[in-house]
Parts: sequence; structure tokens; C-alpha cells
Amino acid sequence: MRIKSNRTLWFLALGTVLACSLIALYGSSHFSRIFIAEAAARGQNTLRLAIAILEGELARYEKLPELVADDEDIRALVRDPGDSSRIEQANAYLKSINTLLESSDIYVMVPDGTTIAASNADTDTSFVGENFQYRPYFRDALDGGIGRFFALGTTSLKRGYYFGAPVWVDDAIAGVVVFKLDLDSIEQTWRGADYEIIVTDPEGIIFMTGRPEWMYKGLLTLSPDRLSRTAATRRYADAILQDLPVQRTAYDDDLELMSISSDDATREYLVVAQEMPEAEWTVKVLLDTASARGQAVISTIAAVLIVVLGAMATAIYLQRRARLSYRLQVQKDAQEQLERRVAERTNDLASLNRQLEREVAERRSTEVQLRRTQSDLVQAGKLAALGQMSAALSHEFNQPLGAAKNYADNARILIERDRIPEASENIARISSLIDRMASISRHLRNFSRKPHQKLRPVLLSDVLDDTQEIVAWRLAAAKAELDIELGATPLAVMAGSVRLQQVLVNIISNAADAVDGFGNRTIKIRAEREDHQVLLHIRDHGPGIGEDIAGRIFDPFFSTKGVGKGLGLGLSISYNIIKDFGGSLSAQNHPDGGAEFTIALDATEMPAHAILETFQ
Ligand code: ADP
Repeated sequence: MRIKSNRTLWFLALGTVLACSLIALYGSSHFSRIFIAEAAARGQNTLRLAIAILEGELARYEKLPELVADDEDIRALVRDPGDSSRIEQANAYLKSINTLLESSDIYVMVPDGTTIAASNADTDTSFVGENFQYRPYFRDALDGGIGRFFALGTTSLKRGYYFGAPVWVDDAIAGVVVFKLDLDSIEQTWRGADYEIIVTDPEGIIFMTGRPEWMYKGLLTLSPDRLSRTAATRRYADAILQDLPVQRTAYDDDLELMSISSDDATREYLVVAQEMPEAEWTVKVLLDTASARGQAVISTIAAVLIVVLGAMATAIYLQRRARLSYRLQVQKDAQEQLERRVAERTNDLASLNRQLEREVAERRSTEVQLRRTQSDLVQAGKLAALGQMSAALSHEFNQPLGAAKNYADNARILIERDRIPEASENIARISSLIDRMASISRHLRNFSRKPHQKLRPVLLSDVLDDTQEIVAWRLAAAKAELDIELGATPLAVMAGSVRLQQVLVNIISNAADAVDGFGNRTIKIRAEREDHQVLLHIRDHGPGIGEDIAGRIFDPFFSTKGVGKGLGLGLSISYNIIKDFGGSLSAQNHPDGGAEFTIALDATEMPAHAILETFQ
């Protein structure tokens, strides 16, 4: 696109240079022709006007000599040229009509050429007595015609146009009346115009011009013939005749160009000429071609400028158009690219969508599978829970049953030894153990479904007394002993006494298991009050809780004990019971070895009657 527009611009530049060269070469002459033709038309108008004025002026006086020649007094004068009174009379008459008609001079000549009367008889340059027989106007009039001539007065040294008419006396020409006209006033009007008007005689000598330096200069070479013919009529008296330094060139059919050199410069003129045959004049209008040529140059420059400007405008237009189409192309490309990208993206998305749909389908089938597996698991879990629950129940009942069995055996031995009160005491304990088992059974039932059983203040010492009874045989089996330190102030907590006892039995039993076979088999139970809580620490001197199992000991069914020994329910049940009391159960290893379980419960005050009951 760019290359194409550059090539167009190069062609345009080449075309412009070519056009400018052509205009420079031919434009100037073409425009010169146009402006010179215009100047010629103007010159023709000027020429027509000048000729009309000249002809008008001459026509005014043409008939007057005949009129004066027909005057009786003039005829009488030429009949008797010696009559001085008639001469005087004629002089006065001529002077008066000369003034009246505004001619230059009027005079009367006799056939030998001598002037006998003149309007200027009373001036220094009087023609009276002068002989002008050499003048053509005289000879023509003497021949019976009308004499016409233009010349420089030999006496007056003033140029003038002469009209001569014969004075007829008895059918013979007895004299000639001459009117001399002054054309200076017409010539005056030619001065200062932007054209030159010149009038030349048949020999090509200029005798009327607005330029004084051209006066009496020959446009045609002043050959001896011409000079002798001019001298014969003494047309220009003693004036010096010279050639005008002129160079003529033909221009078009009826026009010519003239280069006239003056002192300072050579000027070129366009010449428009017309002859005035009656006066034997040629009137020429000379128009300086400088302005026409200047205009031609300006027009050429203007044409070149127009071409250049036009070319520049075209170049700008072409460039703009190229830029616009380039921009449109770029936009189109960008749009196509965008569409391509959108299509690619759409494809990607569609394939992604398909993949997602596949994945969703897979997930759904996995979900169905999972649900099926889950329901299978739940089923299996239910069965397992059922088994575990049965195991838990047997575990919880085995301990009091074991204790009851011991008391029963002891009671039998005591009865056999007749130690009835002690045997009865053992039986009472068996009865209380059975009560406790019933309570445990109830508790287990409640624990599984109703954790929020009503709590009441329980004295820690009471609970521990009952607990000791349950765990006594277990401690004895492990050769372990309890070291209980509850402090001076009886501590009461919000709990359920049987459930709290159950918790303590679990923890103490675990401690007895832990210290089994160890040197120090003391299990220390210590209670303390801290803020609004009572803390009960049960510490043993066993191996402590391994780091790897520390986080799992409260999980249901977690046990490190062998099959048939531990069910892993003790701590989880205890944990839930303490939680139901609003307290917490935690386990850590004592810095001096062994495990320490801490039960934290809300402290409470024991009603006075309850305390009394305890001490009774
Ligand atoms: P079980 O006594 O049936 O194993 P528990 O829930 O009572 O179940 O106890 C879980 C486990 O916690 C025990 O198997 C034992 O590994 C650990 N444990 C409990 N008490 C102690 C203790 N005092 N010292 C060391 N380990 C203990």
C-alpha cells in the first residue's frame, strides 16, 4: 500500500516537474502573445481615437482656404497686388478670421510664390514678402487643386499643417490662400501617456510625437533620396534629421515590434499603425511591451505556482487517502485477527466446556459411587458400633461385677468364720455395687442419647470415696496405691456424681494399668481451686503418654492395650461426660515422668444440709 502510494507520488512529482518545465519553456511566449494581443487591441483603440482627432482637426480647416479665396476683397487683392490699402485691409481681415478660427496663420500668395498679405503681417515673423513657391501646397493650389502639406515653418520655425486653395480671377488662378494649422495642442495630449503616438511623413520621419527626443528622427533609414526629396520641399526647414536607432521585428500579420534605443536603455514597443492617405501621414501607436512581458512572466510564475500547488494538494490528498486506506486496512486486519482470536477462544472454550461436561459426568458417577460406598460404610459402621457398644457395656459392667464377686467371696468366707457384721458390710457393699451398675446402665443409655442431664453440686470427697471402693480390687491387683490430697476446704463441683465417679474410675484404672510393673506405683490425686473452677489432677508414675498417640487417646475405640484388655472407650466416654458438665478433660506428661490427667469443673458451693449429710 505504502509502496504504491510512494510510486504515485513519484509520478506526480515527475509530472509536476515536466509541467513546470513546459510552462517555463512555452508559457512565457504564450502569455506574452496573449498580453501583447491585448495591448494591440488597446493600441488599435488609441490609434483610432488619435486618427479621429487628427482627421477631425484637419477637416475643420479643409474648406476654409477655399472660402477665403472666394472672398471678393482677396480676389481684388490678388488682381492688384500692389495696392497697399487693400493689403492692409486684407491683413486685418486675415488677422481677424485667424483669431476667430484659431488657426496658426492665414496668408495670401501671388503666383510667383511671394506672400502679399498675412494674418501675422504686424509681427516679427511676418510672412509678407516671403516666397514659399517651393512648398507643395502652393504648387498644388496653383495647379487648381487643394494643397495640403505638413512642414516646419521656415520663417516661424513652427510646425504646422498647411491648406492651400487657388484664388480664381476671371477663370485664372491669380493667387493662393494658405491656412496654417497648429497641431501642438493635440500633440500635448499625447505626452505622459503609457503609450506613444507618433506621426510620420512618407519618408518615415517623425514630426509629431509626445517624446521631443524623437522629433525629426527617421524610422526608415534616411537615404540620400529621402533626404533630397525632403530638402526639395524644405519640409523641415533647417532642422537636423537623424536616424532613430531602431530595430524592427515583424510580429504577427499586421503588427511589428520595434526596439528603440535611447541614451539610458533600449525599449521594445509594439507598433500599431494606420495611414492617413489624404494627409500622407502614418499614425503609429507604440506600446511598451515591458508591462505585457512582465504580466506574461507573472502569469507564467502564477501558472507554475498553480501547478505546484495543485500537485501539492493532490499529493496531500493522495497521502491522506493512502493513510486512510492504510488505517482501514490495519483496522480490517485487527478485526480479522480479533475474529480469529474470538473463534480460537470459542473453540478452546467449547473444548473446555466439553471437558468440564465430561468431568461433571465423571464426578456425578463418582458421587453416585461414593454415596453407594458411604451407605455401605454406614451400614458397616452401624454394625461395628453395635459391636463396640456391646463391648463397652461388658467393659463397664465387668469392673463392678469383679468387685461384687470379690466382696461376695469375702462375705462367704466371713460368714463361714462367723464374722457376720463384716460379712453383712460386704453384702451391703455388693448391694451398692449392684445399684451402681444399674446406675451405669442408666448412664450409658442416657449418655448415648441425653447428654444434658441435670447437674447438681457434688462434693469431691464423696465421689472419691465411692470411686475408691470400685477401684480398690483393681489397685490391689496392680499393687498400686492412691495418694489423695483434697485440701482442707471441701470442694464441690457442678456434676453428676455417678458419672463423675465413672470418669475417675476410668482414669484411675488406666493409671493402675500404666504403673503395673513400675517401681513407684503411687497414683496421686490432688484437687485445687483456681478462680471459678476446681482442678483435679490424677498423676501416675508410669511410662507417660507417647507423643505419637497423644492426639488420639480421647478418640473412641483407641487403645494400646492388647485384645481383650482394652476397648478404647474409657477416655472418650470420660471426655464427653466432663464436657457435658461444662468442664474439660486434658492429658499431659508430668515433667518428672508419668502421665497427668486434669479434670476442670465449675466450682460451686455445697448446700449446708448436704454437707451435714455427708458428715453424719
Ligand atoms: P483402654 O484403657 O481400654 O485402652 P482408654 O480410652 O481408657 O482405653 O485409654 C486409651 C489409651 O490411653 C490407653 O490404651 C493407653 O494407651 C492410654 N492411656 C490411658 N491412660 C494412661 C496412663 N495413665 N498412662 C499411659 N497411657 C495411658
